[in-house]
Amino acid sequence: MGNEFKESIRKAVNNANLTGALGKFSEAYKVNRAKAYEGIDFEALRSRIAELKSYAASHLDLLSAQFAQNAEARGAKVFRTDDPAKVREYILQVARDNGVKTVVKSKSMATEEIHLNPYLEKAGISVGETDLGEWIIQLAGQTPSHMVMPAIHMTKEEVSDLFSKEINERLSSDIPRLVKVAREQLRTKFLEADMGISGGNIAVAETGSIVLMTNEGNARLVTSLPRIHIALVGIEKLVANLADIAPILKALPRSATAQLLTSYVSIITGPTPNSDGSMKDLHIILMDNRRTEMANDPKFKQALQCIRCASCLNVCPIFRLVGGHVFGKVYTGGIGTILTAWFDELKKTEDIQGLCIQCGNCKEVCPGKIDIPELIMEIRRRLVQEQGVPLLQKAIYSVVNNRKLFHGILRAASVAGKPFTSGKFVRHLPMFLADLTDGRSLPAIASEPFRDRFKQIRQPELKEKAAFYAGCLIDFAYPEMGESLVRILNKAGIQVVFPEEQTCCGAPARYNGAYEVAAHNAVDNIRALLSDEVAYVVSACPTCTVALQHEFINTFESLGQAEWLPQARELAAKTIDFSTLVKRLVDEGRLTLKEGQRLGKVTYHDSCHLKRTLNVSGQPRELLQKAGYELAEMFECDMCCGMGGSYSLKLPEISGPILQRKLKNIRDTGAPVVAMDCPGCVMQIRGGFDQDGSAVKVRHTAELLAEQLED
Ligand code: SF4
Ligand code: SF4
Repeated sequence: MGNEFKESIRKAVNNANLTGALGKFSEAYKVNRAKAYEGIDFEALRSRIAELKSYAASHLDLLSAQFAQNAEARGAKVFRTDDPAKVREYILQVARDNGVKTVVKSKSMATEEIHLNPYLEKAGISVGETDLGEWIIQLAGQTPSHMVMPAIHMTKEEVSDLFSKEINERLSSDIPRLVKVAREQLRTKFLEADMGISGGNIAVAETGSIVLMTNEGNARLVTSLPRIHIALVGIEKLVANLADIAPILKALPRSATAQLLTSYVSIITGPTPNSDGSMKDLHIILMDNRRTEMANDPKFKQALQCIRCASCLNVCPIFRLVGGHVFGKVYTGGIGTILTAWFDELKKTEDIQGLCIQCGNCKEVCPGKIDIPELIMEIRRRLVQEQGVPLLQKAIYSVVNNRKLFHGILRAASVAGKPFTSGKFVRHLPMFLADLTDGRSLPAIASEPFRDRFKQIRQPELKEKAAFYAGCLIDFAYPEMGESLVRILNKAGIQVVFPEEQTCCGAPARYNGAYEVAAHNAVDNIRALLSDEVAYVVSACPTCTVALQHEFINTFESLGQAEWLPQARELAAKTIDFSTLVKRLVDEGRLTLKEGQRLGKVTYHDSCHLKRTLNVSGQPRELLQKAGYELAEMFECDMCCGMGGSYSLKLPEISGPILQRKLKNIRDTGAPVVAMDCPGCVMQIRGGFDQDGSAVKVRHTAELLAEQLED
């Protein structure tokens, strides 16, 4: 990550206006969105949208031709091109042919994509944005920071300064007054404009119609007052039939701004008459700009299912902290990273792809059913494929790929780290490592790893067996979590085996795009974990569980390596996370926790991988309550804690504030204990509380349950 990029992050994180506005908005958004979707089967709705958009993506040529035929039959002129330069030239030519001096525009990301405004302005044409947010940023000389709310990063005081300058009169920051000024200024622009340029939310092939959804009514004026209207539409906006617009109309406003419907929905089918009775000159440009190429890419085709609602930005813990400008000049957030890789170039995502912490929040709310985190991983993989693995990472991976060497180094680090260790924590590190303990203590490496302690555990000889996959953190930092798991499973009549050859699950390599390294780790672990006859492979780390259940398979598939796929599938079928297994054992009456206890309040933090990839959230809560804890839910209990594996080490300027927010939410519950199922989250949150001096105890669910087993 370049210094300039890091600096832009630091600036954004320290911009209180930006983080304040985005933070407040995203907190309210979640609640309002849920209300807007009340009574609607979101899963069914988004499946329908994904289906119809996927169909359109598979038939772009056919639908483009149908659209052109139907729109032209109604009097529109349709121009299709792959090349953004040709789009700009076409628009300029229409303007020149008609003596256009002034243009008004309604909000259009496609025009941002091709940098239309500076191009037209350079040719002597005045361009006026008419969406309030777009107008504000135009006056400020900025680019949109959000796909739907382009000026969300600005305060009313900043806006009043801009407007004051524009009308040469000192204005207060009274919002109704500012809106009135905007209305007066923009009205004149509408009336004077020779040409209107809009985007299009949907393009219907069956009728040749374009659909526009706005809240301010400006798109209606842009498309109806000037005598020429040009609509610039990315071809991914095509749908086959008029009926296909219904699910999009239902989802887009709910997902974008938690509204049931936008204030204005316009369906434009052919030119309309001007006020003098002549017909409007309607041009529709279908812009490809690598969308067809994207549709032919089996991984990235799904990104064309995007309806540009921006809900993925609204729920993204990173976006709400750094805003849109850090991502570049056009598309922002996770989906913006993907669109930048295609509509601009892969190289431009070198830095911004690293912003994604892989929490999965975006995937959960996306009405287009796009697996944004997975596509960002694919971008990482392709970047590594194109540019290779950086030298330092290469050295680290060569160690991680050699289990004996890797574990030997961890053991040595336990001794070498002693001077910096105080109790169970490393609170300060020297020199260039100092940043690693800034705002969060690190766990001391255990003097005796789990793999050694396991040998000393006396287990009964039991018929049913489970293999325990510890993962690096439980093995080398939190062996007591592993011991708790063994005690619980023994109590339920399951003997635990610990295959010694198990090693890192490969997540650090995979999350950095080094799939070859991750595949190597996968093979080692498959060999180790399938070596014993066991009923289950259980893990108390959700990231590891996801690796064993899903990512080994994905990695082999992405690399086209079929050799280990059957074994990877066999391992996936046997793998289960700790809480799901224990809940099952309790339900089957094989495990009983002490009855009738009053253990006081506990709050529960949902780990991203457990909640969103493994769909586990109720099980640990039920188990804790059964054990006698009173559950006090925290605000945003399923929001990322900022750990994200090596993310917290690479981007402490982002991870730190996210952690602080989490600590506050935990403290606000008044619970003296916070439980979680992930040793990574324990590391982050326990380390955070250690530095801020709070007495809140941070425990893995396994530890809390092991203390409450029936004698
Ligand atoms: S990726 Fe999904 S959530 Fe994000 S803008 Fe597109 S449709 Fe909306
Ligand atoms: S996975 Fe999380 S961090 Fe990444 S883009 Fe989605 S919401 Fe943002």
